[in-house]
Amino acid sequence: MAFFEMAKTAIKSLIHCPATIRYPFQPAKKTPISRGHVIIDASRCISCGTCQRKCPSQAILLNKEAKTWQIDRFRCIVCNSCVETCPAKCLVMDTQYTAPVTKKSVEIVTITYVKPPKPAPATAAAGGEAKT
Ligand code: SF4
Ligand code: SF4
Repeated sequence: MAFFEMAKTAIKSLIHCPATIRYPFQPAKKTPISRGHVIIDASRCISCGTCQRKCPSQAILLNKEAKTWQIDRFRCIVCNSCVETCPAKCLVMDTQYTAPVTKKSVEIVTITYVKPPKPAPATAAAGGEAKT
């Protein structure tokens, strides 16, 4: 009985299109909530390190001295934890899957965020006289 079921499925697959696609030669199917890969807006990253601490697979490495943020695509399990916890909202889960890689899986991004200058004291802004 199982043989006939299997034969039926095999014949159906021969007649109709296969149930799978030949990714990456054909684009993968995705929806607006597909988890493709994490991207960062380096101009908004405040180097707080939350994403590194919250990542369950140690895929993120922040180097405050060198001002770099790096992600290992092989390690990332696309859990979305870093995106949800980033206080600066500079991480986004893109729906596009990363291109298949065999060797270099680490992406290093230079953080370009510049802390805005502190606003001038209220007295100076109000036009107060400077002491001599
Ligand atoms: S999506 Fe998850 S596994 Fe990937 S870098 Fe973010 S926290 Fe780590
Ligand atoms: S990406 Fe977000 S959570 Fe990670 S260090 Fe930058 S600001 Fe902090």
